[in-house]
Amino acid sequence: MKTGDQTLVKQINKSIVLSTIEKKSPISRAQISKETGLNKATVSNLVSDLIADELVNELGQGQSSGGRKPVMLYFNTHAGYAIGLDLGVNYILAVLTELSGEIVEEISVPLSGKDAEHVIQTLSSLVSTLIGKAPQSPYGVVGIGIGAPGIVDPEGHILFTPYLELSEVNLKQILEEKFNIPTVIDNEANTGALGEHLYGAGKNAINLIYVSVGIGIGTGIIMNGQLYKGATGISGEMGHLTIEVNGRKCSCGNRGCWELYASESALLKEAKKMELFKKDDSITLESIESEAKKGNKDVLRLLHSIGEYNGIGLANIINTFNPDMLIIGNRMARFENWITNPIKSVLDERLSSFHRNSVNLKISSLGKYSNALGASAIVSSRFLDINRVEVI
Ligand SMILES: [Zn+2]
Repeated sequence: MKTGDQTLVKQINKSIVLSTIEKKSPISRAQISKETGLNKATVSNLVSDLIADELVNELGQGQSSGGRKPVMLYFNTHAGYAIGLDLGVNYILAVLTELSGEIVEEISVPLSGKDAEHVIQTLSSLVSTLIGKAPQSPYGVVGIGIGAPGIVDPEGHILFTPYLELSEVNLKQILEEKFNIPTVIDNEANTGALGEHLYGAGKNAINLIYVSVGIGIGTGIIMNGQLYKGATGISGEMGHLTIEVNGRKCSCGNRGCWELYASESALLKEAKKMELFKKDDSITLESIESEAKKGNKDVLRLLHSIGEYNGIGLANIINTFNPDMLIIGNRMARFENWITNPIKSVLDERLSSFHRNSVNLKISSLGKYSNALGASAIVSSRFLDINRVEVI
């Protein structure tokens, strides 16, 4: 074996041991050896390396069936911190997390403009603040992850965003040059899917579709436990599924797109036609929710219809992917109490029992954090180099 190969094998094994400790901690050296199939001497050497790297701690003593009690190993979730940014259409939510995804600090600010300069300036100031708040740690802030509303290529360049003037702006490069910290940008539905898969409602799902219903609709697809991104990284634009043949014209060039009937924009547009909201220029989701809570019949009827339209698109997705779980996230999730039943009735009515029975419909459990947490998870796992090993 060449030296290069040996180094690679060692790196891979080290990454496997770290990943095992991360997932199963507290765990003993003997248990790692059993889990991974690596011999005890190898595990011992790699664990020593990981302790020297400050990625693993030895603490206390575990249970033993007899003899000397084993020393237990813990993943050092404080070895570094990650920043996750949910770049919304009119807000930015920024979180600072431990390597395990635990939120340490969060800041949310409204975005008052769409121009690149304003967005970059707001993002930068949030990142600076969070870097300043990060506790002392061996590796400091290990990455900046951004979930953005738009089409993002595999290199993290925003190719197109219909809502912010960031198309063709090399946001990744700008932030990396400014902070000298690795930065990753992905579509918000992909980061949302990862967030829910790692920390939220989708923890036990293997084939999961996360449907981000906000101003538009996007989907993050997790197949066999891995994010599926398509040939050029831009799959999941299911908001533009045609659901009405001669329907409304969409900015994408098509007609009758799903998001024109089932998104937050559709909800607001229809609500504005109501007598109640006609004079209200600043109609918000909050005001719609408060009317729904009061039992306003028109609002309830509208939410029912939005729920049904959501169900129609979801039925198409279920027929295509046969996922074991569908998670509805982003801002439509707040209407859970009013949209869940109409969605379920549409699915019951329109799907074969084979498709219907195999899918579990859930509402995002991380709420407004799915996107930001998924974005921070991408950079934490890049830092821990776990993805590379799973690919091999
Ligand atoms: Zn469209």
